[in-house]
Amino acid sequence: MSVREFPVDSERAISTLMRLIAVEGTTGHEAAIMAEVAACLKEAGVPASAIKHDDAQKRIPVPTPVGNMIVQLPGTRPGPRRMFSSHVDTVPLCAGAKPVRQATKIVPAGKTALGGDDRTGVAVLVSLVATLLKNKLSYPPLTLLFTVREESGLHGARHVDADMLGDPKFGFNFDGRSASEITIGAVGAQRWECEIFGKAAHAGVAPERGISATAVASLAIADIVRHGWFGRVIHGEHRGTSNVGSLSGPDGGSAGNATNVVTDYVLVKGEARSHDTKFASTIAAAYKAAFRAAATQVCDASGKSAKVKFTNRLDYAPFRLKESSPAIAVARRAVAAIGREPKLKIADGGLDANWFVKHGVPTLTFGAGQNNIHTIEEFVDLSEFVAGCRVAVALATEESA
Ligand SMILES: [Zn+2]
Repeated sequence: MSVREFPVDSERAISTLMRLIAVEGTTGHEAAIMAEVAACLKEAGVPASAIKHDDAQKRIPVPTPVGNMIVQLPGTRPGPRRMFSSHVDTVPLCAGAKPVRQATKIVPAGKTALGGDDRTGVAVLVSLVATLLKNKLSYPPLTLLFTVREESGLHGARHVDADMLGDPKFGFNFDGRSASEITIGAVGAQRWECEIFGKAAHAGVAPERGISATAVASLAIADIVRHGWFGRVIHGEHRGTSNVGSLSGPDGGSAGNATNVVTDYVLVKGEARSHDTKFASTIAAAYKAAFRAAATQVCDASGKSAKVKFTNRLDYAPFRLKESSPAIAVARRAVAAIGREPKLKIADGGLDANWFVKHGVPTLTFGAGQNNIHTIEEFVDLSEFVAGCRVAVALATEESA
């Protein structure tokens, strides 16, 4: 494999990244960052008429101000279209983040996360276009896709208007740490919810008249933990994970409001993940059985027990591209072309790629320097970011696909 030179202007790419990190855009609040990305693209030479939004926000079930941004570039040579993607939203812990550039890193100024997840990916896409246009490189038709609401459940990728993508043959998503690790598959997830209906009573005067929804939740969760369905789940050759994420009242507030009232209602929310769709459902089914059994154990003096309503749904399906997939061949050559050794991996978290694969675009995910994401220790490794920018140029210009 030959190592090639790529004319990436690393200082310009880093300053674009600093600029993008400085714009707040937590998940569900993407209007300002979308406008900033559009401004960056125009400065890089993309005609304003090529910058479009889909209407994903109308289909996303949580408030979202804008749809995904989609840019089609015609290419300088014919060939199958390639899609590049990244998500513009950040986790709530990034609110107010101010980037500070140090010698080899970007770190947050205060006690916030940074938002390198995924502004590194966004900056890679901007740098890619700037590099292609400024240096008049040869490339096939390209689509750039900037998604919304990734962090709150891959909503933008799920509800993208696939007709606006221009029928790409494969996709390259930038959202991760290492520029030479190629993620070819990712876990799938189920989300479940259990409503527990008990009965209120004075906890001091007549507790026996009450049915405690809190007691039902506790018994169910204890049972789940005891039988190995909580956290990392290993049953025979099946692997997965599960979590109880929140316990709340009907309005999302506290489950129960007073110490002297038997809690009549609890809403428990959680998830189950596995690389095997069926096993994620099996884990969710174990939760359902545990909540139902627990409900029968908590009764009032007349023998009336609690009721539960359990629902679960597929959050996103797992996927795994075949190692013989042409997208992987292109990806391996691109990583080798920047002088790195490509490594294939499978992710234990969901990615926008899970949905792109569902939409018929085999998609690989690369990193560009994110580190310690979703924590106040987050930083961007600048040399890895620049390596990601180079890989993107290699992927876009690679001739043999
Ligand atoms: Zn991300």
